[in-house]
Amino acid sequence: MKTLKILDKNLLYHLQRSLTRSASHPNQAGKMTIEQTIQYRAASVSDLTGKVALVTGGTRGIGRAISIALGAAGAVVVVCGRDQVCAELVIEDIVSNEGKAFFVQADLSEEDAVDTLIERVVGKFGSLDILVNNAGIDADAPALTYDLTDWRRVLRFNLEVPFRLSQAAAEHYAPRGGGVIVNVASVLGFVGVQEACSYVAAKHGLVGLTKELAIEWSKKGIRVNAVAPGLIQTDMTSELWRNEGAKAYVSQRIPVGRIGQPSDIGGAVVFLASDAAAFIHGETIVIDGGFLGT
Ligand code: NAD
Repeated sequence: MKTLKILDKNLLYHLQRSLTRSASHPNQAGKMTIEQTIQYRAASVSDLTGKVALVTGGTRGIGRAISIALGAAGAVVVVCGRDQVCAELVIEDIVSNEGKAFFVQADLSEEDAVDTLIERVVGKFGSLDILVNNAGIDADAPALTYDLTDWRRVLRFNLEVPFRLSQAAAEHYAPRGGGVIVNVASVLGFVGVQEACSYVAAKHGLVGLTKELAIEWSKKGIRVNAVAPGLIQTDMTSELWRNEGAKAYVSQRIPVGRIGQPSDIGGAVVFLASDAAAFIHGETIVIDGGFLGT
């Protein structure tokens, strides 16, 4: 068995930089020594230089934070959403941090938009390396009288759309040796909550789909993983945050003693998208301030 030698810190730094900046680095891993692979993976944790990343619902909330995080890690970020004005603000943030970002308008409630999104992105930017299925909706009501139209809308948007975009991305990834998919699930992919039957079913489905696609596609070099945020302060949960009593109660229930912010999510997505996570397939990282452990 090889022994890991401790390299001079300066040498290590320069090796990491040159490996991570090499245009062909994703394919070099197989040719590296064990030591070089360890160093390369460590240096890759936040290095997505030159990769094209598509974030659905990237215009606000968690998607906005993920877009900014990916941009800070060097990815060319394609912010997908409906609202050009919101998108431009996100792009401004990324560009002011010396990143690169562009807007692709798409209303994912429309069939044609789902069918053509990946093709449009690849056509415009020449490639796609990272797909973040972030866009999501909810419609809360008691299960007994739950409206079937809402049920189908939530299931379609939160489960079917990520599946169809993943299929289209995988078709593009497979012939070029791989790519990454990160789904934005939820702690409600693991537990239930009052009056959220369609959302809970969809997010449980997304956690399962993440495992399944990872199994089916890992040999094609495609990594499929997810993050599962806990309660995060965004428009989706605004009703809760407007109620100070509810906000205080929820904060108390979370071991870290505060509600989550969109900025809590981006780092894990960057990590999962990076070569540092090369052996992670089908995993869902829970980001909830300890809530699920209680
Ligand atoms: P949000 O409502 O602030 O953002 C939702 C995003 O989806 C927006 O960018 C919006 O433009 C986009 N979107 C909605 N309908 C769309 C459509 N028809 N076409 C294209 N884009 C559309 O919500 P958020 O809290 O930022 O949620 C982002 C993801 O995180 C969702 O998948 C959500 O289920 C998940 N999540 C949120 C929380 C939370 O507490 N906020 C917790 C766990 C998981």
